[in-house]
Amino acid sequence: MVKMVDNVLENHWDFKLPVDPIKIAERMGVIVICDENLASNISGQFFYEGDLPTIRYNPKEHPLRQRFTIAHELGHFSLGHPGGYRDNARSFFLQPQGLDAHERAANRFAASLLMPEIAIYKLIEKLPKLDVSTLANAFQVSEMALHYRLKNLGIV
Ligand SMILES: [Zn+2]
Repeated sequence: MVKMVDNVLENHWDFKLPVDPIKIAERMGVIVICDENLASNISGQFFYEGDLPTIRYNPKEHPLRQRFTIAHELGHFSLGHPGGYRDNARSFFLQPQGLDAHERAANRFAASLLMPEIAIYKLIEKLPKLDVSTLANAFQVSEMALHYRLKNLGIV
């Protein structure tokens, strides 16, 4: 899992922050569509449309959520999950209870993609003290997502 996301970052990330999940997806040959017509309770979806791996995301949600959604759907693609995921807010609970293995894996992928381990350690080194809101802002993720990432890395 972690290996796959490391591969993706190594090959497709320009090492800039915040990580741009759309750019990475497109470099991987995935079509990314901002879809005004998705049902309002759908954050995003990943399907093969014809032969083309395609992510659609909901532009009516918060921009930080949109980034996480795109990264999550890219997780379904990168991890080789068979196409056909439609994700509502439930899919993104960072606490894994009750989610199926593919959704948990896609969430872990998304967190690791948007908050690369190496960048977290570099930034923390530069900060006078561990500051969740500064870090969340640098990575353009929610403070809750950042908190869980730090927890998973054993930093907090
Ligand atoms: Zn999903």
